Amino acid sequence: MAAVDTAVLADWISRFRDAVTEKREWLTELDSAIGDADHGANMARGMDAVMAKLEAGAPATADELLKTVGMTLVSSVGGASGPLYGTLFLRMGMTAGAVTELDPAQLGAALRAGLDGIVARGKAEAGDKTMFDAMAPAVDAFDASIAEGADLAVATAEAARAGEEGRDGTEPLVARKGRASYLGERSAGHLDPGAASTALLFDALAAAVADRTR
Ligand code: ADP
Ligand code: MG
Repeated sequence: MAAVDTAVLADWISRFRDAVTEKREWLTELDSAIGDADHGANMARGMDAVMAKLEAGAPATADELLKTVGMTLVSSVGGASGPLYGTLFLRMGMTAGAVTELDPAQLGAALRAGLDGIVARGKAEAGDKTMFDAMAPAVDAFDASIAEGADLAVATAEAARAGEEGRDGTEPLVARKGRASYLGERSAGHLDPGAASTALLFDALAAAVADRTR
């Protein structure tokens, strides 16, 4: 597959909704250990609102689609994750522009801009035990894979694998950002909920691309 079109982007979003809905209890359990036990509910509610918007009329271009996702998350999720995931999609949309498909370089640039937006908003750095710790390795792996000449299916699969590794790497960390940081040393020994949902996001992207390639 040479490019991700708006149908694949929409399938990605839909699969992410399904994943956070299916894993809602697990995400909430993770957040109950080091937060306020609402991450599963936040993500499921936000993505339900996103799907309701998209089902009412799917935008024709990548920027409209991604901006709709971002704005809906910002307005429907109260927790820290709403504005952060919202920023990811808003920045992705601004970077994608009014196109109907994204080639690997364009998708990479959009993902990078989204990650940069999360950093601009939340100031997280590597090792702070946040969604950054799954997202940054995923975006890096995507870029590295494309630079080596891999196709979109391989690059998104590599990104998903790196995201899962990044998620697992948050377990021993002491949180330095967000609600979990209030726990100090007691935050160690648990996966970060936002890193867990971010790994689901990249799994969903890989699955949407793989399904189209098949
Ligand atoms: P809240 O913390 O407001 O209850 P959620 O539970 O929905 O919101 O989301 C918590 C997740 O948000 C954390 O697990 C972490 O990954 C992410 N997060 C919190 N603060 C930041 C930040 N400053 N930068 C990046 N991610 C953050
Ligand atoms: Mg929470």
